Amino acid sequence: MEQELIIYNSLSRKKEKFEALAAPFVGMYVCGPTVYGDAHLGHARPAITFDLLYRYLQHIGYKVRYVRNITDVGHLENDADEGEDKIAKKARTEKLEPMEIAQNYSNRYRRNMRELNVQEPSIEPLASGHIIEQIEMVKKILDAGMAYEVDGNIYFDVVKYNEKQEYGILSGRKIEDLLNNSRSNLQGQSDKKNPVDFALWKKADENHIMRWTSPWSDGFPGWHMECSAMGTKYLGEQFDIHGGGMDLKFPHHEAEIAQSMAANNKAPVKYWMHNNMITINGQKMGKSLNNFITLDEFFTGKQESLDKNYSPMTIRFFILQAHYRSTLDFSNEALQASEKGLARLLEAKNTLLKLNSTDKTDEIGLNEITTKVYEAMNDDLNSPIAIAKLFDAVKIINSLNDNKVEIGKEELEKFQAFYPLFLNDILGLTEIQTDAKSHQDESTDEIMDLVLQLRQDARKNKDFATSDKIRDELKNINIEIKDTPDGAKWNKIKSE
Ligand code: ZN
Repeated sequence: MEQELIIYNSLSRKKEKFEALAAPFVGMYVCGPTVYGDAHLGHARPAITFDLLYRYLQHIGYKVRYVRNITDVGHLENDADEGEDKIAKKARTEKLEPMEIAQNYSNRYRRNMRELNVQEPSIEPLASGHIIEQIEMVKKILDAGMAYEVDGNIYFDVVKYNEKQEYGILSGRKIEDLLNNSRSNLQGQSDKKNPVDFALWKKADENHIMRWTSPWSDGFPGWHMECSAMGTKYLGEQFDIHGGGMDLKFPHHEAEIAQSMAANNKAPVKYWMHNNMITINGQKMGKSLNNFITLDEFFTGKQESLDKNYSPMTIRFFILQAHYRSTLDFSNEALQASEKGLARLLEAKNTLLKLNSTDKTDEIGLNEITTKVYEAMNDDLNSPIAIAKLFDAVKIINSLNDNKVEIGKEELEKFQAFYPLFLNDILGLTEIQTDAKSHQDESTDEIMDLVLQLRQDARKNKDFATSDKIRDELKNINIEIKDTPDGAKWNKIKSE
């Protein structure tokens, strides 16, 4: 590979040189959303973090198979094994089929990801489409003696597993502490041998809509099963990278490790990577705390804690300005600073592409910037440092533009290739779209409705001179009118 990448492995708790199991191929699995509500800032962070990794790995020469799942079944309300299925509950309250809920919010999630310029994964498997694989894996865990059945439910036997393998290696939890903490709760409310055990298969009660036939009962898989089964199916019993938010380390990822060890007798993942959380005024942002802001609310500005709307690119840049393992605190001031900073970076690109070279090159340090950007990225994807170096480049670009310093042809052409490559293709920061009609303010819509009405009236009166004049004058200010069977429609044309 052209670059030596170092990443922080949550399992060893240190930075390690990245060495793919079967270079140049890399298998990467990231836990995707549970689709029962709109995506919020907390969903944007893992998506953008692992999008950056996906883009960078490919840039430095790897061929990546990127699997990001969609959880559409089995994720119960309290993230453990109790309560109602999150999607089934939403379906009940909205009087829709669970699969309508899952489809609707998957569609909306994918749209949000496109808006954030997050590349689509290679495979996006659904938990409900892999029930057979999950049942097969539960059977293997039962055969290995690491699970037990109680009345149609199958539970993972954490205590027994811990006698052979250490449980808690990823999160650093000790089984004694887990047992002590959980004994006081829940005792007697569950049919588990031990409160630390987790469900691999749950028997559905008669009201439960999402249910499948299994050797044990009509029911549904436990939440942790899907990622183990789908990761194994598409990436093999051992693969390179598993990512997700830090909140998934325990119990979700810990359970994944135990399930795979029990079923396949192999550690499933070489590098575990976790992004940190987003906070609002220092408090975790999340659905359960009801202090989250959805991505659509950011894009439209329609939410009480927002001073204005923020473009998807501003949100992307805001997230990349913090290292993925640091917490990131949301505020309007921080977002507005990001908005300005991003505009400077994008403007500098246009300036750079128009620069002329001269015969001599001053010592201006563009080569050093290129080296430092790569060094930052190779050091556990340090995007804030890489971005700081790009800001150094902006200063040089502006000096060149003001003819304060000079640059030779070869140097200039190298940097004219490097800067857009890094900004647009690797950081994924592109020009802010101005033609997204849904994100314009309402007054523009009202004025345009009025203008189109006046044009319609002129046409009715066969005053085509006026109607054409309106069309042509609007075109001069980059607004295009199209006559359709449903009446005239307008949209902004992208300006150069
Ligand atoms: Zn998962």
